Amino acid sequence: MPAPYETDVFVVGGGPAGLAAAIAARGKGLRVTVADWSRPPIEKPCGEGLMPDSLDALRQLGLTIGSEHSFPFRGIRFLTRATSVSANFPSGCGLGMRRTELHQLLADRAAEAGVHFRWGARVSGISREGVAVNGELVRSRWIVGADGQNSHVRRWADLDAFHSYKRRFGFRRHYQVAPWSDCVEIYWGSGFQFYVTPVSPREICMVLISRHRQLRIDRALDGFPELREQLNGARPANAERGAVTVSCRFKRVVRDRVALIGDASGSVDAVTGEGMCLAFQQAVKLADALAAGDLSLYATEHRCLMRRPFFMADAMLFLDRFPGLRDRAMRALSVKPAIFSALLAAHIGARSPAAIVTSALPLGWQMLTAGRP
Ligand SMILES: Cc1cc2nc3c(=O)[nH]c(=O)nc-3n(C[C@H](O)[C@H](O)[C@H](O)COP(=O)(O)OP(=O)(O)OC[C@H]3O[C@@H](n4cnc5c(N)ncnc54)[C@H](O)[C@@H]3O)c2cc1C
Repeated sequence: MPAPYETDVFVVGGGPAGLAAAIAARGKGLRVTVADWSRPPIEKPCGEGLMPDSLDALRQLGLTIGSEHSFPFRGIRFLTRATSVSANFPSGCGLGMRRTELHQLLADRAAEAGVHFRWGARVSGISREGVAVNGELVRSRWIVGADGQNSHVRRWADLDAFHSYKRRFGFRRHYQVAPWSDCVEIYWGSGFQFYVTPVSPREICMVLISRHRQLRIDRALDGFPELREQLNGARPANAERGAVTVSCRFKRVVRDRVALIGDASGSVDAVTGEGMCLAFQQAVKLADALAAGDLSLYATEHRCLMRRPFFMADAMLFLDRFPGLRDRAMRALSVKPAIFSALLAAHIGARSPAAIVTSALPLGWQMLTAGRP
């Protein structure tokens, strides 16, 4: 007779996706173990913005973020050197918060839910029986790969085949300066974007994203004197830290008893601000599938969840590649900001995907008729 399972679900990776998966699976009464080679709070370069749909998904996991840990923003503002346009979220606010604070809150919530942790533990392989952790086998019924963009679990489970893959480079730095805007601001430069998220009454998080591995924040700021001016000589609170951001779709996210979640299961470019939201939403769907004992349910839900963010990521990467079109789109949006509001509502899932098409048509018309300088 085979030895009994030591845990029902073994989650490889204790980042936002792994912790969310663990919390949701515990909510179904499953025994859950999480292993990560780091220890909380785990830091990672990030724009540190949680859109309203991320906050809804976190609430489903039993986590409400208080004002002592975060700073609210009411919408998104796009800026070029020539123009700007902003829109409020249709309801509620997003929140900016330090990545380490979010990680600690998720880890605390998971501990409170009864998740068993192996922090500082390296997973070196998976097999039919379970997971090899620090060289020991832990027998598990299900294995969840939440080990990020360069997932080993994905490779071990032969799930690496992808449909599309686009890579850019992100650099993050905090500045000790009072937020000057109640929006997350996205500055569109030539071949790069800055996005600025307020994370406390005294601090902002700035991320530079571009296709150029060598481009750094200080040099790119030369192309945006307005942004440098907003910083008002504030000193950086920490060193610039870089990470790769990828827009990538995998052909499959489940095989046998293995499921992928978060960046391990595919990701959208960081400029969308939707990476963590997807992970939290996937966690809820994965727990339903684990409880039903059928991972194919998760595969179907995962495909649906990814559709809208991929579409929006493709649209934003298109604007990055074609500056002439982007400038015309920006001028058109500044003339008709209601179109921008509708697109933002669709971006965060507050309006149906069909709303993207119904908003894009008037935008196209506006670009043709009124978008010229
Ligand atoms: C520059 C940048 C800005 C971003 N800005 C935003 C934003 O503003 N809002 C937003 O929602 N998203 C943003 N994102 C996306 C977001 O950071 C990711 O979607 C999110 O980190 C995915 O979480 P994850 O848990 O899947 O992966 P990760 O956070 O990468 O966690 C994976 C974990 O697995 C562990 N691990 C890996 N292999 C092993 C192993 N073999 N054994 C043990 N442990 C292992 C790692 O230590 C790590 O802790 C941004 C991304 C980038 C690059």
